[in-house]
Amino acid sequence: RTSDSVALVIGVTGIVGNSLAEILPLPDTPGGRWKVYGVARRPRPSWNADHRIEYIQCDITDPNDTQTKLSVLTDVTHIFYVSWTSRPTEAENCKVNGAMLRNVLRAVIPNAPNLRHVSLQTGGKHYVGPFELFGKIKSHEPPFTEDLPRLDAPNFYYTQEDILFEETRKKEGLSWSVHRPQVIFGFSPYSLMNLVGSLCVYAAICKHEGVPLRFPGTKEAWESYSVASDADLIAEQHIWAAVDPYAKNEAFNCSNGDVFRWKQLWKDKGPVWDEIVSEKQLQPTKLEEIGEWWFVDIMFGGEGVVDSMNQAKEHGFVGFRNTKNSLINWIDKTRAFKIVPEK
Ligand code: NAD
Repeated sequence: RTSDSVALVIGVTGIVGNSLAEILPLPDTPGGRWKVYGVARRPRPSWNADHRIEYIQCDITDPNDTQTKLSVLTDVTHIFYVSWTSRPTEAENCKVNGAMLRNVLRAVIPNAPNLRHVSLQTGGKHYVGPFELFGKIKSHEPPFTEDLPRLDAPNFYYTQEDILFEETRKKEGLSWSVHRPQVIFGFSPYSLMNLVGSLCVYAAICKHEGVPLRFPGTKEAWESYSVASDADLIAEQHIWAAVDPYAKNEAFNCSNGDVFRWKQLWKDKGPVWDEIVSEKQLQPTKLEEIGEWWFVDIMFGGEGVVDSMNQAKEHGFVGFRNTKNSLINWIDKTRAFKIVPEK
């Protein structure tokens, strides 16, 4: 049987890319039977190897490499863009992340006649500004809604949106959607920002050194309401937006649909993390790759933020997750893949 839909996942080893690679090929995924291409910068890692996708190693910062490898994928019907790279300043982030998205769209849009939809993932920094300006500019008041005006500050999400609008306009009938998760709970040892993975590593080191598992953040982060976004839920929202006509040409927040306080999750996690010790045969990963302390510091540096899920629900996406179960689930997966010790 031929495929009904053909996905191109850009960033397939990332925290949401890995979920898309797992969910898209399943038989009951909306959109019919999916064929899936997955693009990432490095060779395919073992923990991604079981997903039924065609893996393409390609550096999308390089326009020639991108043209060569992606312009030949003429059967693509949907692009899922779940990638980014980090540069020291937001001005540079705008430049390089904008170029990456443009390289992909310019390689695929003119060459894939059946391309119908481009789904772009940005995030909650749309409403509060880039990391480098946290606390320095006045941001919107939460709960954040999708219709809030852009902040008067550089933001690579705005650059990417503008490129998305500009490039999709060039092809009749090509729609887009933008997805704005908050902090993502998921699995990927290659992610630039993986809070659950970082906390697992922190917990394993605490255990190894025999020191208490103290909360590494501020009182505000401990006490305030926060929201999180389950990586599988985000993947489900991308797929919903790709196939549901009512979701076209809109931006959607994507969080679990509940609120939590870190002080509540921390107490619950004690017994789970207590089992973790550091003398098992783990996947060879570098500490700096899986323990993103700068990200933990930012996430735990101040009060949590909340967004509104009304726009997504009103358009028909009613998915949700219980954040406590989501956290436990991703910790279990991080242990099962031997990124941190199992016991
Ligand atoms: P990630 O860091 O988990 O994964 C990035 C993926 O992109 C990887 O597969 C990597 O191989 C690929 N990639 C990076 N550079 C590449 C290149 N030059 N060529 C080819 N592939 C390349 O990504 P993520 O965290 O899902 O980020 C996607 C978007 O979501 C970003 O805009 C990010 O800011 C946003 N976001 C992330 C979080 C989070 O907690 N991780 C929260 C909210 C929003």
